[in-house]
Parts: sequence; C-alpha cells; structure tokens
Amino acid sequence: MNAILITAARLIDGTGRAPMERAAVLVEDGRIAAVGRAGEIAAPPGATLVHRGEETLLPGLIDAHTHISIIPGLGDQGGQLKSRAALAMLRAVPNIRKDLLSGVTTMRVVGEEHFLDIDVRNAVAAGRIPGPRLLVATRPIAARHGHGTALTASDGPEEIRRHIRENLAAGADLIKFFATGGTSSARAAADTCFYSPEEIRLIVEEAHRDGRPVAVHAHGGPAIRWCVEAGVDTIEHGKLATREDFEMMRRAGTWLVSNHAISFHPEGIEGGDGGNPRIMEKLAIARRRAPETFGFALESGVRWALGTDSMHGLLWFEAQKAVEFGATNEQALAGVTRNAAEAIGLLDQIGTLEVGKRADIVSVRGNPLQDIAALREVGLVMKEGTRFDQLSAA
Ligand SMILES: [Zn+2]
Repeated sequence: MNAILITAARLIDGTGRAPMERAAVLVEDGRIAAVGRAGEIAAPPGATLVHRGEETLLPGLIDAHTHISIIPGLGDQGGQLKSRAALAMLRAVPNIRKDLLSGVTTMRVVGEEHFLDIDVRNAVAAGRIPGPRLLVATRPIAARHGHGTALTASDGPEEIRRHIRENLAAGADLIKFFATGGTSSARAAADTCFYSPEEIRLIVEEAHRDGRPVAVHAHGGPAIRWCVEAGVDTIEHGKLATREDFEMMRRAGTWLVSNHAISFHPEGIEGGDGGNPRIMEKLAIARRRAPETFGFALESGVRWALGTDSMHGLLWFEAQKAVEFGATNEQALAGVTRNAAEAIGLLDQIGTLEVGKRADIVSVRGNPLQDIAALREVGLVMKEGTRFDQLSAA
C-alpha cells in the first residue's frame, strides 16, 4: 500500500466546517483515508511524510468551465478551435500542465474540435501527460448562424441528434450547446437566442436519455427561461441575466457557472482581440454589467460555481473577481471546490477533503478565508495521491 501523511498549519476541508489548526491528512492508494489533528493520525509503517509548514491544505481546485486548446491572449478564439488538430494539441498540452501546476486538479472542458479533449482526457487518465482530470463535452452543438459554431453546425432535429449521438459515441461526458451570442465573436448580440425552444428541448432530451448532463452557453434574453424550462443542468456565463432569471434558476435547481477573468484580465479577450472594435464594444458592455449581474445572482440564492473559460492558471483570479463583485471568501472558495464538484456531478468523488474521496489536495501559503488571493500561492499539488508540484512550470 502506498501511504502519505500530509501535515500543515491549517486545513479547510471544503464542507463548510471551520478550518482545523495543526491538521493532517492520510492518503492511502490515492484516496483520503483519514483527516484530523496532526499527532492524532498515525502514519502506517513506510508512509511518506509531507510537511507543509505554515500552509493551508485545501481540496484540489476545480475549473468548471474551460477549453484546453484556447489561449485567449492569442485572439480569434473561434479560429483557434477550428485550427488543425496538431496545432490545437500543441496549445492544449502546455495549457493543462499550467492549470495543474496552479492547483487545478479537475476541469470541465466545454467545447473542442477534432475530439481532441477526449484524447487528452484519456492520456491524462492513463498518466501519459500531466494535467487535471477532465470531463469533456467535445464538439459543441451550435447553430449555423450563431456564436460558438466551429467545424460542425447543427440545425433542426436531424442534425442535432446526429451531432449529439456522434459525441456520445466518441465518449463525451456531457453535452454543451450554444444558445445565445457571446462576447468573443463579432456575431450578434449576447441576448439573441439562435435555437428555438423545440431545438433546446430536443438537445436536453437527447443528452439526458443517455444519462449525460447539459451545459448551455447563455448570456441573457429569452434563452435563459427556455433552457431552464427544458431542464438544462448548468447555465454558463449568464452575464446579461436578470434578477428574475436567477430566481427562476434557483427554483429549478439550475446551476450558474460564472466567469469574469476572461473579460477583466489583461491577457483575456482584450489581450487577444483588443484590435476588433465590435468585440471591444461587447466587452465594454460585459464589464459594465458584470458587478450588478453577479450581485443579482448572489441575492437570488442561485447555486453557482466558477470557471476560467480558458484563462489557464488563473482560477485564483476568477475567485478574486467573485469576491470583488460581492461574494464572501467562503463562497468563492466553494465555487472552485465543493460547489464546483456538485455543479459538474462529481461531488461523491472530489470537492472536499473527506474520507473515501479521491486524494486531490493542494496547499497554499496563507489563508484563503482571510484573503482569497492566497489561492495564487500554491505549494503542494496532489491529484489522486500523486504529487505534481515538483514538475517545473513551463
Ligand atoms: Zn467557454
């Protein structure tokens, strides 16, 4: 048996319980075997001892919305998705390494071409390349005239069914579709819905019948109601959503997956597409509306998680923006740990430091409940009992 005893000044288990001082976690064969006070947990003979000094132990971080082959700062995100598979792969492999070294041990990938994310997910799971555990949507479902349309467009029942079933046959973990316009393309306003309510119902029915959840790119307008009524599991972005939209989501149990880093970080959309006036105009609207809209979400009580939308290594910044826009440090931390795990359907495996779960454990300098920016200073990075922090950052 492979046993590791990790000790640190503090442990936040992610369940909402108060931090534990002078804590220890025992890892056995990739799973958490015990959590408690240092000195009260005995290390089995031959166990590796890992002392993290004054640091805080946390559950491995979870990015609930990203794309592995996109680097926003390079611009033309749609063009990056459509680029040759080899080029996309050359971006993806270093991107996920950067994510992992920043303490992210699980990511949900919501749109890639060439089934690239399936191959990367499998290579990571087999230990051939370092990266977070991946849940993948593979080729997004998008309308011909819409936003997010990459190599395959799908309109009407026949194309939609075929596209979804091809994704499922290839091994998709979830289905992602684009309902509304977005910020990173010049096409259409972000509250225009490109799919009819019938098409939205069909997408959800087709995915759920195979036991797969549905994530939808939707900013605002009628799309939010149509998607909630159709039973989608997570609404991504929601940057133009109203108070009423969030309340409807709360009543229905629909998750919000929120992101701000790509709109606000200098290496985000501005870094890549700053020269495109139409995109910058939409970005200005997104920035102006963000604090108020996120405030509506917080007031409504809708459940939410955070994702970087391809801002690799910047989940800490995402959490910091959530706090800046009114979330508590506890909420922001839950948005990248426990609640993110629940939003993506993996709470029984990850998201908290509890006995029996996969040993995804990170340490940070400082205490994120006092200063959320502590998430930036990552020390230990362990995924399923294997350490990755000794890899040098590329
Ligand atoms: Zn996205």
